[in-house]
Amino acid sequence: MLITAFDKFTTLDYPNHLACIIFTGGCNLRCSYCHNAEMVLPKMLSKIDYTIPFETVLNFLESRIGMLDGVVICGGEPTVQYDLPDRIDDIKALGFKVKLDTNGTNPSMLAKLLEKNCLDYVAMDLKDSFPYRKQLVGVNVDQEKIKKSIDLVKNSGIDYEFRSTILPAFHTLETLKKMGEIIKGAKKWSLQRFRNKKTLDEIFGGMGEFKGSEMDFLRSQLGEYAEVIEVR
Ligand code: SF4
Repeated sequence: MLITAFDKFTTLDYPNHLACIIFTGGCNLRCSYCHNAEMVLPKMLSKIDYTIPFETVLNFLESRIGMLDGVVICGGEPTVQYDLPDRIDDIKALGFKVKLDTNGTNPSMLAKLLEKNCLDYVAMDLKDSFPYRKQLVGVNVDQEKIKKSIDLVKNSGIDYEFRSTILPAFHTLETLKKMGEIIKGAKKWSLQRFRNKKTLDEIFGGMGEFKGSEMDFLRSQLGEYAEVIEVR
């Protein structure tokens, strides 16, 4: 597993849990609004002169048994790491819960992890209505794979949420309603406000953001699609 960063403590990234975060390097999408370009683009990844050995993370976790509840694995896109199942087994063997953040493009890996019963929480991106626009996600996305991942997550029996980073130029109320139909009946849908400070595609750096009041309005219009709609 290629680990490019590691945060030892977070109260924000795993709901109701004290956790640490593993950031994996590499992603199969190129979302124009992505603020983690250094963990996505090979030309930037190749400039990283120090990656974190997994053993270092495990040693840290051993020292935090009883103090932390869980580990968040995010990226980049963690499911592109071929040894993800084995590394999660190592973490679970120490007694920690695991939350996986994923873009949903790899249902076979997701199914494998869920079958092994080694995930405790999944946060999956829903980036657009179908079909995902290339201008937004940078590549052609197989929407059948996204649908399959959504079904897996909704039927997993574990805690989960769908997450959407939204920006005025792409996510009208009409678009968001179409997205809501895709996940209708979900436990939770988090609407994350796009921030234009640091973006993978420079052009997106100048794009408008939703105001807090606009996010609240959108939340008020989307209640029929999930039990909980959260704004971040
Ligand atoms: S936003 Fe997520 S899925 Fe998109 S390029 Fe960045 S890390 Fe990959």
